Amino acid sequence: AIVEAMAEQVVAQLREDCATPATRLDCVAAAMEEEMRAGLRGEGGKIEMIVSYVDDLPNGHCATPAAKLDGVAAATEEMKAGLQEEGGSKIKMIVSYIDNLPNGSEEGLFYALDLGGTNFRVLRVQLAGKDKRVANLESREVSIPPHLITGSSADLFGFIASALANFVADEGPQNKVVLGGKQRELGFTFSFPVRQTSVASGTLIKWTKEFAVDDAVGEDVVAELKTAMEKQGLDMRVSALINDTVGTLAAGSYNDEDIVIGVILGTGSNAAYVEKANAIPKLNGELPESGNMVINTEWGNFNSPCLPITEYDQALDDESVNPRGQIFEKLISGLYLGDIVRRVLLKIAMQCSIFGDVDSTKLRSHFVLRTPDVSAMHHDETPDLTIVAEKLAANLKIADTSFETRKMVVEICDIVTTRSARLAAAGIVGIMRKIGRGTPGDKRKTGIAIDGGLFEHYGKFRQCLESTLVELLGEEASKSVSVNLTKDGSGLGAALIAAAHSQYA
Ligand code: ADP
Ligand code: MG
Repeated sequence: AIVEAMAEQVVAQLREDCATPATRLDCVAAAMEEEMRAGLRGEGGKIEMIVSYVDDLPNGHCATPAAKLDGVAAATEEMKAGLQEEGGSKIKMIVSYIDNLPNGSEEGLFYALDLGGTNFRVLRVQLAGKDKRVANLESREVSIPPHLITGSSADLFGFIASALANFVADEGPQNKVVLGGKQRELGFTFSFPVRQTSVASGTLIKWTKEFAVDDAVGEDVVAELKTAMEKQGLDMRVSALINDTVGTLAAGSYNDEDIVIGVILGTGSNAAYVEKANAIPKLNGELPESGNMVINTEWGNFNSPCLPITEYDQALDDESVNPRGQIFEKLISGLYLGDIVRRVLLKIAMQCSIFGDVDSTKLRSHFVLRTPDVSAMHHDETPDLTIVAEKLAANLKIADTSFETRKMVVEICDIVTTRSARLAAAGIVGIMRKIGRGTPGDKRKTGIAIDGGLFEHYGKFRQCLESTLVELLGEEASKSVSVNLTKDGSGLGAALIAAAHSQYA
């Protein structure tokens, strides 16, 4: 009983440290909004707020320009406020240089490369205009050999280019006919912080998510890709370089014109949204005709005293490849949730013997418990929690557990995931506040496109995120807010934006 009491104490402490009461989330949303404003002023802090240079989102139903102007007018106050406020920013709010988004009329065959996690995908998309839309979409997923994630730039891009070359080499002769002698064109989704220099170029600011290909930092990632493609003898034009959040936003709004925010909840986490161009003081040159500009917030680097941080998060951060960076991402995204749970279990195993006589080698190994395992345990509905028992045995060599202990493990999964989902919801509310959405008087619909394995596959995470949005916005306001799973939007979005920036368009 003493043993169980000690474990209970660890869990009770975790519950307390991870608590996200609405007041705290309010603080997170407010701090996020502040950081975003500072990022837009160019007072570079933790959040990039990258200007995507996408200033027009695809709209299959032909948006009326009047409504668009209305939107610009309505946000005037917001823009002014954004110009006036003081304070450094952790959110960079990066500009993307895309000044034209697909509008639904795009036609032709386009390719996309989606790199940002443990796998990358190559896609071929046949766009058939307003009525037929996406006539065909084929994709191939390729896993990146682990040594390339921390190797040289030439090796990483060489691997990617060869996969792309194979994909092209394997396609049937009918594509030659479709292309009719035109050069193949590619949209490149590259989901790391990039300082965009044009719609199709940008330098890598830093790696995130366990990537550490040092000689690529500061380089133009499109130039790196082009060099690698040339070595493969692959003749392709890179028509756009985008972030996965921008791709998700583009794919989302291609299908639903109300979508103004794109969020990634996968290996990592980030968000992009449609900002008014004149609310971005750091935007140089002529304002785009549409009056809009997509901002890639790079919210993963958000940090604030409001965030509920535990000893496990601190240890994870210390031992990560990017200590002190991407704190918001480390609390939220799929790469990390499993490892946070593992660290809690390790602490319990060190303090008492409820896991029996366990060899802690596995328990001490980073990332051996993954977020899909946490999800499987969390959703275990077998009467004896058999799945929990299996996952503990298979991943952590914890073979002997009582039913009570397994229940405790489920509770730990619940605490860690609930915090993640609630913080992600608070981040979304921060963006909505920045653009004046979801207020009680706001009649506009606000659509949020979300992509990523964490959101897609982890049901309890998704439910919690959605219910937290209702909690923070209120029943009434949340009726005009919709959350859409935009599966593989980052790849489709890249093809759409490549089409919008085609040399033949
Ligand atoms: P990426 O972010 O690399 O583009 P995905 O969007 O496919 O990749 O997301 C992959 C991430 O989603 C994994 O790192 C994992 O954390 C999470 N994930 C995948 N499957 C599940 C699952 N069944 N339950 C919970 N999380 C999952
Ligand atoms: Mg992805």
